This record gives sequence, C-alpha cells and structure tokens, in this order.
Amino acid sequence: MTVIARVDPHCIRDDAAKAHPEWVAVDVNGHKARHMVIPDRWLSCALGPCNFEYMPQVLTEIVTRYHGDAIFANRWAGHITCYCDSCKSVFKQATGLDLPRTSQERGWTEFQRWRANRLFEVWDVWDAAVSKVNPEACCLMNMGSIHSTDMPRIGGRAGMVAADRQGRNAAVMPPWAAGWNAKVFRSVMAGKPVAGISSVGNDDAHRWKDSVQSAAEIRLWLLECIAHGMRPWVVKFCGTLYDQRWVPPVEAVYQWHFENQRFMRHTRNMARVALVWSPQTSSAVGNAKSEAGQLGFYHALVEARIPFEMVNESFLGPENLARFKLLILPGIAALSDSQCDQIRQFVKRGGSVVATFETSLYDEMGRKRNVFGLADLFGVEVAGRTEAYIKNSYIHLEHETHHPLLRGFDDAGRVINTIGRVDVKPTAKFTAPPLTRVPSYPDLPMEDVYPRQPTTDTPDVFLREFDSGRVAYFPGDIDRTFWEVLDPDHGRLLANAVRWALNEPDVVEVTGPGVVDLAVWEQDGSMTVHLVNLTNPMMMKGPIRELYAVGPHQVSVRLPSGRRAREARLLVSKADPQPHVAGEMLSLTVPSILDHEVVAIIY
Ligand SMILES: [Zn+2]
Repeated sequence: MTVIARVDPHCIRDDAAKAHPEWVAVDVNGHKARHMVIPDRWLSCALGPCNFEYMPQVLTEIVTRYHGDAIFANRWAGHITCYCDSCKSVFKQATGLDLPRTSQERGWTEFQRWRANRLFEVWDVWDAAVSKVNPEACCLMNMGSIHSTDMPRIGGRAGMVAADRQGRNAAVMPPWAAGWNAKVFRSVMAGKPVAGISSVGNDDAHRWKDSVQSAAEIRLWLLECIAHGMRPWVVKFCGTLYDQRWVPPVEAVYQWHFENQRFMRHTRNMARVALVWSPQTSSAVGNAKSEAGQLGFYHALVEARIPFEMVNESFLGPENLARFKLLILPGIAALSDSQCDQIRQFVKRGGSVVATFETSLYDEMGRKRNVFGLADLFGVEVAGRTEAYIKNSYIHLEHETHHPLLRGFDDAGRVINTIGRVDVKPTAKFTAPPLTRVPSYPDLPMEDVYPRQPTTDTPDVFLREFDSGRVAYFPGDIDRTFWEVLDPDHGRLLANAVRWALNEPDVVEVTGPGVVDLAVWEQDGSMTVHLVNLTNPMMMKGPIRELYAVGPHQVSVRLPSGRRAREARLLVSKADPQPHVAGEMLSLTVPSILDHEVVAIIY
C-alpha cells in the first residue's frame, strides 16, 4: 500500500490571517480576498510567504511524523491574480514593471511568464523540503486546467500527474470524457504515469460528496480511464460511509484490473490518428469555442470506431509524430510559425492532415494573420471574413465525383451546412469538389423558404494529394457544428474525410451494433483491444442508470508486422473467441459486451 498525504494551501482561517497578514491574497482593488464560497476563510497568496516559507514546514512535519510516500498538492497555484506587497515587489524586482491590472495593460505577458516561473519555484521548494526528510518521496502537484499552456512544462517536470476530472459537471458530458481526459494528460507525459481521479460522489459541479452515483456510471468512468491509459483512482471524501453503494462496483473493477495487470503494463498505444489539443487556441478564441470543435471531432471518431490519440501543440516534432499517419486539427486557430512548419514537415514525410475552420489563422499569441499559417498545405487563401452565424445553408453532395467522402450518402442530395465558416478562395489546382455550397436563404416566412441559388461551384472542402500524404481542409466549423447539432451526416463526413486522408486500413475494425469506444495497445509480448460499450439512452448527458449489453461484434485486428498470434483471450467474459488468422489479420467474434471487453492477443 502506498500512502499519499494531501495538502491544500489555498485558503486560511481568521486566526492565521490575523497572525500572518502577509499570507492573505489581495484583490485588484487592494482588498484582502475572502474565499468565493467559504465565507469565513481567506484566500492565500500562492506566490509569497505562505507557499514559500510556511508550507515547506508543514510538509516537513508530515513526512517526518507520518512517513507518507508522497504529498499530493491540491489548489496550490492560487485562485486570483494577487496584488499583495510580496507579489508587487517580487514582480517589480524580476521585471522592473508594476503588476498589470488587466490583460490589456502593459506587462501582462511578462506577468504570466513570471507567475508560471514562480509556481515552478514553489514546486522546487516543496520537493526539496520533502526529499530532505525522505529522498524517495516527492510532491504530486495537481495539474489544474487542461487549457493551461504550462501543461508541457509540468509534464516534463513531473514524475507522474493526477488528472483531476472527478465526474460529470456539464450539461452534456458523455462517459468518454474520462477517456478524453486521459488522452489530454498523457499527451504531455511521454509515457510517465497519469492517475485518473474519479469521484464516486454526485455531480462534480454542485459537489454533493456524501451520496454516490449509480454503480453503472462509476464503472463506466473507471473503465474509460483504464481503456485510455490512466491508472484508476477513486476519490472518496470523508471516512464515514453514509452511502456504501459505490463499494462493490469499485471493488469489482479493481479486482479485474489486478487480475489482468499483465495486459495493463508497459503499454504503447497503436493508434495511427492523432487529434491536436491546443491551449494556445483556448486563449486565442476562448475555452468553450476551442473545446467545442475538439469535442465534436472526438465524438465523431468515437462513433466511427477509429482509434486515436491526442497530441499537445508543443509536441509536433518528428520524434512525437513518427508513429502517426494522420494529424487532425479541429479548428486549431493558434499555431506558431514553427508549429506550422512542423506540420508541413510531417506532410513532407508522408503524413496526412484533416483541418477545419480557422486552423492556423492566428499565431501562438493569438494575433490574427492575413493568411493561414498553413495556406500552402490547404491550397487556399482568406478571401473575406469569418462568418460566425450562418442560417439555413446546405452542403450539396456532388455524387458524380464518386469521391470516398460521399460513402454512405447514396440517397442524400444535400445535408445541412455549418454554422461558422471562413470565406476562402483556392490558390492551388483542385479537381471537382465532392461538396459544394448552397448559400444561405430565408428560413421564414414559409413562402420565402426556397434556395435562391440551388447549386454553386463554391467548394465546402478542399482535398489535396501530395507524395503519399493527403490534406483535407473544411472552411466550415463542421466539428463544432457537429457538437452543437449532432447531425449524423456531419459525423459521417468527418469519418469519411479521416479514412480518405489516412489512406491505409484501420488498425482494428469492429462491426456490430451500438456506440463502442476503442483503444488499441501493445505490451511486451501481447496486444490488447479495449471495447467500452457506451450504448445507453443516457449517454450524451451522462447520468447512466443501467448498462445495456450489445453484440455480437466482429473484431478484426491487424497484427504489427513480424508478429504471430499464439493465443487470443477475452479478458472480461473469458469465453473462447475462436480466432481466425489470415496473413496479418486476426478476426474473432465478441458475443456480447455489457460494459467493456478486452481482446488480448498473445504473441
Ligand atoms: Zn501575493
């Protein structure tokens, strides 16, 4: 058993504030900052004496007296921009500047950089205090926001991190949110461990912590963590169990995980598709807007059963992208010149790209460019403005092109168009586009609802082939619109574009009913295919009541070259899958999946 002690320095009581006024954070108006939800507490300053002088003494005491293996630091990075005397003077000393009052004032960029550096110093001071007592022990700093541009630096510094997304807390949160979290955090950890923190409590936004979610929901969150490469951690506040219903499901998942640990260790993900995650874009266009495109594309890939990983914008070099064939840029607006160049080099090396909307239209600081940073890859230039709210426009499907993008649309003449769009014009030569634009026309009054221009030759997708790489660029925000409207046609168009650009067979093909989230991993001497059954009437909002078995599924796995399968097992049902091997393909039937199944192939 490993014991980790948790500390949380973000607020202090009246007596501490009176004895040490220098520990209290000060707001922009010069007032000592009360806690936003706990009225008798004060917020502490994260960048001054509280974290630098007081907390190391607390940590030393804990490690000396109680011999924990590590310290978990919660809410250690501050809650507000602090204007206390310490912050003012240390910032002035470091930069010669006064603390800016808003992001518009001079010195804001310097302030962000200074604050980040100062937090890394806190981490160093805490680690030093702990390892002085026990050289084996360390501090696990809770990472905070997935929108932080410091994620790569934290990932580089940390031996392991805990990904803290404890449960459902939004109007729409499918259970794959736990898998998304795993991929975002793993993308900066270079194979180092990530703990996926799930809470058994109800609703992470309103924070009822002493009653629990349904067994089915708890199971699905844990299984999503495991399938996508996180260590399952369960959070339970309070040592008194007022509601014990969470215990059996958690015990069952942990027991299964323990029995099959051989297949959970030393894993390498085998996906050939990578979805780019960009905190820069979050700060350029806003968290919600940046997330919506990401979530839409994520959902489309889950529905299409295409295994994929996520890649952080700071890891676009050949050493990180070599294993991928296709890079997806879901409205990744903010990219630096050098990041654009890394993507260009990826395509030169034979990689493919699917990009949407404003991808590369801003630099890494969020300054708008006149041309796309990736204009040469897309083969287009900006012709006008970005439209944010287009009503009643359609995509005309040009069936005579017989393009693979139109697969599955046999009887459809048109599908709905996107809500946002960048006005672009081609600069390269294109063949006839499979998708063209039907311009917006009135949706009211009734007698006016008819297309003024039934067809145009305005492309709604730009498709190019290089040596062996392919590039698809959608000027519309098809991924974000998909997340908002969830029209199956948009999901299909995205999946078709991915498969066209990928231009190679999927690593694994799964046919059969339902929504099944996939992950494919290789270990030393084996590979595993995780199938998590998300099929549920409550899937999109997320409050899973009950699990519904789906199946049978045909699973075809492409074995890595040079590998021969000795045996295949189903790690959940334990049924004999009677695998059939033909060349490098191994096929088998999974009779039924209740919550998950794992196909293990032993070389
Ligand atoms: Zn301060």
